[in-house]
Formats: sequence, C-alpha cells, structure tokens
Amino acid sequence: MKDSFGREINYLRISVTEDCNHRCVYCMPANAVPRSWTAMKDDDIVEVVEAAASLGITKFRITGGEPLVRPGIVDLCARIHDVKGVKEVTMTTNGTRLKEMAKDLKAAGINRVNISLDTLDEKKFRQITRGGDINKVLEGMDAAFAAGMDPIKLNTVLIGGFNDDEIFKLAELTRSCPLDVRFIELMPIGDVHQFPEQAYIPCSVVLEKVPELVRINDKAESSVTRLYKLNNGRGRVGLISPLSCDFCGSCNRLRLTADGCLKPCLHSFEEIHIKGLHGSELQWALKLAIAHKPKAHAALSATERSQSRRDMNRIGG
Ligand code: SAM
Ligand code: SF4
Repeated sequence: MKDSFGREINYLRISVTEDCNHRCVYCMPANAVPRSWTAMKDDDIVEVVEAAASLGITKFRITGGEPLVRPGIVDLCARIHDVKGVKEVTMTTNGTRLKEMAKDLKAAGINRVNISLDTLDEKKFRQITRGGDINKVLEGMDAAFAAGMDPIKLNTVLIGGFNDDEIFKLAELTRSCPLDVRFIELMPIGDVHQFPEQAYIPCSVVLEKVPELVRINDKAESSVTRLYKLNNGRGRVGLISPLSCDFCGSCNRLRLTADGCLKPCLHSFEEIHIKGLHGSELQWALKLAIAHKPKAHAALSATERSQSRRDMNRIGG
C-alpha cells in the first residue's frame, strides 16, 4: 500500500518485548524496569500480521528489547511465518541466546538475522552493554552460520571516541567472512546516557578509514542502507545514516511496539494504540498509520534529539 508521498509500505518491524539481558548505554537506562505485563499476546501479534499482510505488507522483522528473551518466541516466529501473504520474517538480536536457539529459529522460518556488535574488544563490549559477555555473541554468530542463516549481518553503532578506532578491523571481517557489517550512526533518542558531541560521527568516517570500499547496488537491500564492498570481499559493508543523510524518501516501514502502538515514524511522537482492536479495525489502524507517515523526520544531531518519546528498547530500532 502506498503512503501520501507515493512510498510503497511493505515492511513492519514488530517489537515483541521491552525486556533485555543487556543495558546498552545508547538504548536503555541502566535501571530500566521492563514492563513485561504490557506486552501484546502472541494471538494479538499474529492478528496484526494478518491484517498487515492483507494490506500488502510482506516483510516482517522481529525485534525488541531482546526478542530471544520473550518466552515462546520460536513458536511465535513460526506462526508469523505461516500467515498467508508473509514473504519474509527476519530478526534483530543481540545474539546472546542464538547458541541455543538458532537451529529452532531457522526451522521456524527465520532465515536471516542481524546481530548487534559494536566492538570486538571484550572489555569495551562489557562497558557498552553494561555487563554483556562478547563470547556469547560470538558463539551465537557461529550457531547462526551453522544453522544455515544467510546472510548474517552485524549491526555496529558508530560512537566517536569509543569504536571509531575499530572501523578498519570491523570492515575487514567482510573480506574473510561471508557476512555484512552495517555501521549505524548513533541516534540521540530517549532518556538514556547523554553522549558528548564528538560521539556523533557521520558514516562518511567509515569511507575515510577504509578508502578501498567501492559502492555497490543491491535492490533487495533495505531502502535505508548504502552498500559497499572491499576488493575480493566475501561480505559487504553497509552504511545507515539517519543523521547525516536523508533517506526518508525511500522509507518503506511501520513499527509496532511491544505494548501495542503503531509508530508511523521512528522519530515522531505520534503513536496509534491498537491493543484490543481486531479484524477490520486493525486494518483501519494500519491504514491510518500509513496515511500519517510524515514526509521526513525532524533534524537529528548532537543538540537536536529525536521527537520520539521512547527509549530505543521500547521501539525496536
Ligand atoms: N536487542 C536487539 C539488538 O540489540 O540487536 C534488538 C533491539 S535493538 C533496540 C535494535 C537495534 O537498535 C540494534 O542494532 C541497536 O544497536 C540499535 N540501537 C539502539 N539504540 C540506538 C541508538 N541510540 N542509535 C543507533 N542505534 C541504536
Ligand atoms: Fe538490549 Fe538491543 Fe537495546 Fe542493547 S540495543 S539494550 S541488546 S535492546
């Protein structure tokens, strides 16, 4: 279905929980108390997917919080995958539980995962996630490969003064491994740790640090990612630039929060409550969300914070 600006909306990101076993400093407050009791039930989420699919939304991404801490997540993924009209169900995860779950997730129809990894250094990883163990993520990545998930994409939030010294090393992973590394500009959103201005570095820094990267095109790739490759690279490097580049013109998505709100735009405060709606009411709410997609989000920078009134763990990225 097209929105008011002619953009085809075919993608829904579904956050299944606000809870997480990490507390990444840019995403969640250290003392956050997850509100699990507000989470949509499996049946309700599947009903939203049915309504969305009936309107031509074919791609779904499961996210959170950390989706793999939601009880029954594998069965929920299988149910979403089986809805008529659904072409693809993917997941964004911190990877910590993939070691135990990758095989079952693959069997449930999750063929692709994005795994968040901001650093290759054990200590820095513990610092940015407030206590996480990088080895669990690396084991999770191995398990995803072994389960046959393809492609595997790493999401790296670029933070000046924290991981800009690792850009070359992270990009180099795509030379030897068949995975994509996607650098995402740090977004000033939510009531979380406040970073100094120097932390907000543009994705162009990646091209300065790795001049060998060559631009490639891939129509199948998300509308917000610019893709590059190293000479003889097995994987690709993606740049996602919500601050320095305007990609709203090709936005194709809606978001559903774990507590049952549709967000027409990641960076807008507007939300449409859909808990308790069924059938044609849900279709109507989805159409309303599509109609309310703004042409573009307001400016974001070190001094201009997102107008969204949620922390990122309560939206899903
Ligand atoms: N827990 C899962 C994970 O970490 O992959 C899924 C949820 S997380 C909210 C989804 C994505 O949002 C992650 O890749 C994370 O790095 C990214 N993210 C969270 N807060 C962000 C921020 N302030 N700026 C940029 N990306 C952010
Ligand atoms: Fe959890 Fe993902 Fe947010 Fe980190 S980015 S706190 S892993 S939801």
